[in-house]
Amino acid sequence: MLRTHNCGELRLNDKGKNVTLAGWVQRIRDKGGMIWIDLRDRYGITQLAFDESRTAKELLATARKLGREFVIRVTGEVIERFSKNDKIPTGDIEIDVQQLDILNESKTPPFTIEDETDGGEELRMKYRYLDIRRNPVRSNLELRHRMLQQTRQYLDSQNFMEVETPFLIKSTPEGARDFVVPSRIHQGEFYALPQSPQTFKQLLMVSGIDRYFQIVRCFRDEDLRADRQPEFTQIDCEMSFVTRDDVLETFEGLIRNLFENIKRKELGTVERMSYDHAMKYYGTDKPDTRFDMKFVELNNVAKGKGFRVFDDAELVIGICAKGCAGWSRKQLDKLTDFVKRPQIGAKGLVYVKYNEDGSLKSSVDKFYSQEDLRTWAEEMKAGPGDLMLVLSGEKDHTRKALSEMRLKMGDDLGLKRPDEFKALWVVDFPLLEWDEESQRFHAMHHPFTSPVPEDMEKLESDPASVKANAYDMVINGVEIGGGSIRIHDRSLQQRMFRALGFTEEEAKTQFGFLMDAFEYGAPPHGGIAFGFDRLCALFGGSDSIRDYIAFPKNNAGRDVMIDSPSPISAEQLEELGIALKPKILNRIS
Ligand code: ASP
Repeated sequence: MLRTHNCGELRLNDKGKNVTLAGWVQRIRDKGGMIWIDLRDRYGITQLAFDESRTAKELLATARKLGREFVIRVTGEVIERFSKNDKIPTGDIEIDVQQLDILNESKTPPFTIEDETDGGEELRMKYRYLDIRRNPVRSNLELRHRMLQQTRQYLDSQNFMEVETPFLIKSTPEGARDFVVPSRIHQGEFYALPQSPQTFKQLLMVSGIDRYFQIVRCFRDEDLRADRQPEFTQIDCEMSFVTRDDVLETFEGLIRNLFENIKRKELGTVERMSYDHAMKYYGTDKPDTRFDMKFVELNNVAKGKGFRVFDDAELVIGICAKGCAGWSRKQLDKLTDFVKRPQIGAKGLVYVKYNEDGSLKSSVDKFYSQEDLRTWAEEMKAGPGDLMLVLSGEKDHTRKALSEMRLKMGDDLGLKRPDEFKALWVVDFPLLEWDEESQRFHAMHHPFTSPVPEDMEKLESDPASVKANAYDMVINGVEIGGGSIRIHDRSLQQRMFRALGFTEEEAKTQFGFLMDAFEYGAPPHGGIAFGFDRLCALFGGSDSIRDYIAFPKNNAGRDVMIDSPSPISAEQLEELGIALKPKILNRIS
C-alpha cells in the first residue's frame, strides 16, 4: 500500500516510528523557518512539519509548491509536538517529513473543505464529491453505513431473508405517479420504476419465503416539495403467519436495536395510539409526543354566549401553555400572525391569560365573564400562570391549524428536546378516504391493506367507517414507517378493488397477477416499510434527508452535478419510437 498508517491513528506512543502517510493538503502555514501542513484523509488530520534547519532544500521547495487539496504522500518520523492540539486525537504528535511526493495536483476548490464552509448549497451540490470530503457530510454517510449494517444484522438474526426485486416493473395508477422507462424493443410500451416492492414482497410470501426484507430504492414522481427526493430508500419487510401485534413487536425490536447500537440509547415504551385519538388530541396522525399540550374541546363551555365566531364554528378547541400567562402583547400578536398565515389558515386566535393573582384576562372579555373563563380553565386544566390558546372553525381544518400552533409552541418553549426520542405506533387508520377531485374512495395506505376483521362486513354498506389493519411508527412527530396486515384472498381483494371504484376488468389487467397468486395458497401475511433516509436524518439530528444521501437531487428534482434530467439524442428518441412535441423540441435544442 502507498501508506503505512492513516491520518487519524498516530499517537504519542508511536513516537520514533518511521511512517508513510497519504492524503489531501488541508492547510499550509509557512512561517519562514518552519512549514506546517495539515494532512487529511477519511480518518482524520495529522500535522506535517518541515524545519528549515533540518529539512533538505529540495524538499522545502516542493513543500512550498503545494496548494490546498493537493494529494501527497510523505515519509518521516513521528515526533512529539511542541505545542499540542487537544482538539484532535493526533494532536500530540507531528511528522518530521523526510520525503514528499506529489501524487496529484488540485485546482483551488470552489469552496473551503472545512467543517464550516463558505460554499452555498447549490455550489456544494455541483461539486458534491468535494463536499463529501468535509467531516460533517462524511460522518453523515458513516452513520448511514452503520445503520445499514446494523439493520441487516438484526433482520438476519430474526431469520429475514434479503431478496432483490426488479426495478423495471409495470405502471399502475394507484398511489403516486410512476417514473416510466420507455422500452426500445417493444416500442410504445413502458416499464415503470417501483414506488415500492409491495406486490413483489407479497408474492414472495405466496412463495413461502416467510420473512423477507430488502433495503431498496423506491421512486415516486411526486410534486416537488422541500426535502422530498424522487428516489429514496426503504427498509422493506414482509412476514407470513403473523398478526398485527407480531409485526409491531418485531419492528419495534428493530428500532430499539438501532437505538441501542447506534445511538447508545434506550428507547422507552412505544405507546399505541388510535388514529382517531391522535386526530382528536393532536390534530395529526403523526403527533410529537415529547410534550403534552393535548387539545381540549371547548364547544360546551364556549358556545352560546353571544360570541358569533365561536357560535358559528363547528369546533372550538384549545391548548394550554403552562407558565406563559406573562406573554407580552407582542408575543401574542406574533403567534396570531403565525396561525393566520395562509399555510395554516386560522381566522384568528383567542387567548386567555390565567394571571398569577387568579384573575383571568382574555381577548374576548366582552363576551365572557370571569366565571365563564374559569370553566374554560377547568376544562383545560389551566392554573395561575398559564396561557390558554383557542382556535375555532371547521373541524378538520381547525385541528390541523391547532396542530401547527402546538408544534410551534413546542419549539418556542424548548419542549422538543433534540436528545429525547419518543416513539409510538398509530393504529386503526381509516381504510379509505374520500377524494373530492376524482369523486371516489382512495386507499389510505394502499389497496392491499386488509380491513380489521370486525369491519369486514361494512366494506360495501358503510365503506367510510371501515378501519384498516394498518399501522405507522412515529418518532418525535416524524412518520418513519408504515405497513399493514394484507388481504390474502382473492374475493376480499376483489371487493376492495370494487370499493375503490375499479371495474372488474381494470382490477384484472392491473393486479390480476396478484389475485391469481392468491388462488395458490397465499398465507396470511403483513409487513412494513421504513423510510431509511428519514430514519438516518432522525438519528443524525437533522431535518434534512438530503444530508444523508451521497448524491441527492435538489429541490427541483435535479442532479446538478451530472446535470440530470437532460435531453437525449434524436437517434435515441427515434430508437424508442418517441416523438417530442415541437414546442418542447424548441425549448431543449
Ligand atoms: N409498501 C408500503 C409503502 O411503501 C409499505 C408497506 O405497506 O409495507 O408505504
